[in-house]
Amino acid sequence: MIKKASFLISNTDYKKCPPPTMPEFAFIGRSNVGKSSLVNMLTGNKNLAKISGKPGKTQLINHFLIDDIWYLVDLPGYGFAKVSKGIKSTWEKMISDYLTNRENLVAVCVLIDSRLDPQKIDLEFITWCGENEIPFILIFTKSDKQSKTKTLGNVRKFLDSAKEIFGDEPDYFITSSQNGEGKVELVSFIENEVQE
Ligand code: GDP
Repeated sequence: MIKKASFLISNTDYKKCPPPTMPEFAFIGRSNVGKSSLVNMLTGNKNLAKISGKPGKTQLINHFLIDDIWYLVDLPGYGFAKVSKGIKSTWEKMISDYLTNRENLVAVCVLIDSRLDPQKIDLEFITWCGENEIPFILIFTKSDKQSKTKTLGNVRKFLDSAKEIFGDEPDYFITSSQNGEGKVELVSFIENEVQE
């Protein structure tokens, strides 16, 4: 489990991010998917990442140092309809530069709202990751919001869509920041990867 988490720095340019001396996991997803809540839940710190009232507001690459051995990166949410085209392309460039150039990036954790049918924008994003050979895992959020059957149904649909694109199923975790579901599994997975 995570014992220590601290905010390090926010950047718009991947070149200014902390030296790539430790393994890194980056968290991304549609605005309002529950990313800040998940980061806070994983680190056991309710205030570490800002829970956004205004979706799409933070347009920065945020680095956190975890247990002095790995970096957790909070990336800005995508798919906020109200951002202008200009902001969108700036965002896209910042994120794609970061994801394609960050040498210590172990995997992108793509957050998916477990309440919804597969969303085009999420499928497009993981397709882009595949094309750019960026390893990713799926994290289904807000599992407490509906019945287990409903959650598992939506997860299955998304995995089937991913399978159509990639031929196999990505690693995935089902989580709730409300009741802590998936925390142990996800943190253990990351810690295992970090130790390799
Ligand atoms: P972000 O924009 O992706 O960082 O999303 P936030 O973490 O700010 O969450 C968006 C909204 O969803 C907030 O009102 C959260 O309280 C709520 N939320 C996030 N995760 C969960 C969850 O696991 N369960 C429930 N019930 N609500 C959640």
